[in-house]
Amino acid sequence: METFTNSKNIARYAFGRGAVRGLETLLAARRTTADDFVVFFVDAFFRGRLGSLAFPVRPQDLLVFVETALEPTTDLADHMTANVRKHSAKAPCCVVGMGGGITLDVAKAVANLLTNGGKAEDFQGWDLVKKPALYKIGIPTVSGTGAEASRTCVLMNEKKNLKLGMNSEFTLYDQLILDPDLTESVPKEQYFYTGMDTYIHCIESLAGSYRHPVGDAFSHEALRLVSEVFDSNEMMALANREKLMVASYLGGCAIANSYVGVVHPFSAGLSVVLGIHHCLANCLVMNQMQDYYPRETAHFKKMLKAQGITLPSDVCRGLSDGQMERLYQSTVIHERPLTNALGVHYKDTLTLRKVRELFQRI
Ligand code: NAD
Ligand code: ZN
Repeated sequence: METFTNSKNIARYAFGRGAVRGLETLLAARRTTADDFVVFFVDAFFRGRLGSLAFPVRPQDLLVFVETALEPTTDLADHMTANVRKHSAKAPCCVVGMGGGITLDVAKAVANLLTNGGKAEDFQGWDLVKKPALYKIGIPTVSGTGAEASRTCVLMNEKKNLKLGMNSEFTLYDQLILDPDLTESVPKEQYFYTGMDTYIHCIESLAGSYRHPVGDAFSHEALRLVSEVFDSNEMMALANREKLMVASYLGGCAIANSYVGVVHPFSAGLSVVLGIHHCLANCLVMNQMQDYYPRETAHFKKMLKAQGITLPSDVCRGLSDGQMERLYQSTVIHERPLTNALGVHYKDTLTLRKVRELFQRI
């Protein structure tokens, strides 16, 4: 028998324009005593903008705005958890995460830490979270990472030079609100970069050797939707924002049953060594993937052009040998996706010279 895997996806989701207004009803069902409180983690973009969303924050609640200049660290997750504990000796009745992948991941991490104790770095890896997290609701405001539906929350561990999630069933949100009106304000470039995370994830897993029929089905449908959005001439029209929100959700569901391929390891190298955010780093790499994904790279370039997006250039120009060596190490360390894409002997072809040559084109 093959290894026994028992997959789980999100239990409940509400989809539709204005769905965010249902948050109040969902929270009312969680607030059973007068001192029950909710912790909200909200992307800092929404500071001063929550009034128009009828956001149901009560005086006893804790509202935290999450800054997104840097991707989240284990220290940040520990710090945020300590703040919740300082707010009340009692545990919150619900944790809400509303924002992009950064905010959604911070909320997931804190919900795990509040019930499990310990430090965020103790749970970086696979199935290290031992107790169910606090009940949590996720509300994505930019589509593409699939963080709303995945079983991980990606954190940078600066001391260990490691970017790794708390990969666990307990990390999954209990409830999602998918409201396409929320993505209307996303800047065009960001919308493209984040949306492409779904595209890249799906093409990588469908080209890999590790396959799962359910994961494949999620990926195929997500890829179809995401291609429709970015092949069109108005990627941010309402109908396309709806499609991309569905694609992101399906892509996130696929992650549980699949691995990424060559793009994500290179992208992680750019994030770890040069601090470039995940979704932009992915696009920079995807633009140079003709040796590995020729058809998809051509399609990617076509979508860039159709949407009038210009990627930054010469990102790796003038890097020292030491930086190149670090880029190489932080790329080839990703054994699972690289084996999935290139086989167990991937280092025979992915030599320092080859990796360096590819980065130099970015
Ligand atoms: P983000 O959280 O990095 O936000 C990107 C920018 O968009 C920020 O400036 C934010 O303020 C802004 N923004 C978000 N919503 C907006 C809105 N409605 N209007 C205007 N501006 C808005 O976004 P992302 O690209 O979704 O997330 C990247 C993060 O997700 C990385 O930290 C990455 O590691 C993580 N990630 C997680 C998973 C997972 O499965 N958990 C998967 C892939 C990536
Ligand atoms: Zn990704």
